[in-house]
Amino acid sequence: MSTTAQYYCPRCGLAALDTVDNKLYGCTSCGYTYFHNTAAAVAAVIYHEGKVALITRANEPGQGLLDLPGGFVEGDESLETAVVREVFEEIGLSLRQPRYLFSMPNRYEYHTIRYRTVDVFFAFDIDDVAPFVANEEAAALHWMRIEDIDLGQVAFESVRAAIRRLRQPTA
Ligand SMILES: [Zn+2]
Repeated sequence: MSTTAQYYCPRCGLAALDTVDNKLYGCTSCGYTYFHNTAAAVAAVIYHEGKVALITRANEPGQGLLDLPGGFVEGDESLETAVVREVFEEIGLSLRQPRYLFSMPNRYEYHTIRYRTVDVFFAFDIDDVAPFVANEEAAALHWMRIEDIDLGQVAFESVRAAIRRLRQPTA
């Protein structure tokens, strides 16, 4: 453990919380340990007439950039429940039967804290779309051919990696 603590301990309040490794923090004053564990997040690849749904992010990080519908898994949810909920919240579609694709590690900066996540990607195939209404998470909805997506406009590395993988014939 180094001698230069940078963070306040949530138990004793002293500026004594120190990094032990890249996920474990220990308090040099009271002995409290905090595990900054990897969080689970989900993303939806929704196919409709040969195109997939992307949103324009309404918020930081990545405000104004493209993203797949998705978000963090809540404490009492399954991955499947989380992806169905996030799709409904962001683009107003009630979908069923998410199909597991793959997962990708990601980093997510929020209010200067770096979170490590594992993003789990699910596919849906749909016949009908609903009218989109802009909301607090999604400013716009775009249906794009996967090969036409400008990766420079995509917010997160895990999503760029997922799109590259989905472009491969074996995806
Ligand atoms: Zn402490």
